[in-house]
Amino acid sequence: MSISNPQTPAAIGPHNATVLLIEDEPEIRRFLRAILPQQSYRLHEATTGQDGLAQAAARNPDLILLDLGLPDMDGLDVARRLREWATIPIIVLTARGEEQSKIQALDLGADDYVTKPFSAGELLARMRVALRHAAKPPGEEGEASFTTGSLRVDLLRRQVFVKEKEVHLTLIEYKLLTTLIRHAGKVLTHRQLLKEVWGPLHVDEAHYVRVYMRQLRNKLEANPARPQLLLTELGVGYRLRAE
Ligand code: CA
Repeated sequence: MSISNPQTPAAIGPHNATVLLIEDEPEIRRFLRAILPQQSYRLHEATTGQDGLAQAAARNPDLILLDLGLPDMDGLDVARRLREWATIPIIVLTARGEEQSKIQALDLGADDYVTKPFSAGELLARMRVALRHAAKPPGEEGEASFTTGSLRVDLLRRQVFVKEKEVHLTLIEYKLLTTLIRHAGKVLTHRQLLKEVWGPLHVDEAHYVRVYMRQLRNKLEANPARPQLLLTELGVGYRLRAE
């Protein structure tokens, strides 16, 4: 993926970013202690929700990794409390079977999730995307173009190209695509897409997203049955491939 904007300097890389891990499971903490410092992340750990909130306020980390099953409080409440004052990116660590809490966490403002057991590569990729989004200046309207795989979108002229051949999108299809571009690499729940594309009155009309996503895939994917760009996150929503 590349987003070009001559006005903004290159995005801040992950190097020396401070990460707060809020997690009670010793195995996960050990795993992250082994991989994150190696990648130049500075890691702080909290094993309870209360300590996590206190450390988030005291240390002002660049990124928070939040377990949803904490001993003293629900991880969802931790996310809610954090979002009252902080825009720090939050990636939730969920266990299998926590589908509903995962979606709730994303709707509450968490940036992404990984499901345990996750690989180091998967987590590091999610962290890079979250940090890159956070490093963007507010009001990122000035971006001129977006490219991923064979897709190129000229955001100023509102033109969409697949392998440099122009593709015509309807207004809603274009709005859906640009919403995904604004969050490229991150998962968006059905509810978030409905809210951003159709408005807050339509957050329960999940079939809108399915119908328009199918149309968009037909126009943009080489093989719409095996999408390479517009990826389904089963039971959660969609993600536009970014790297
Ligand atoms: Ca736990």
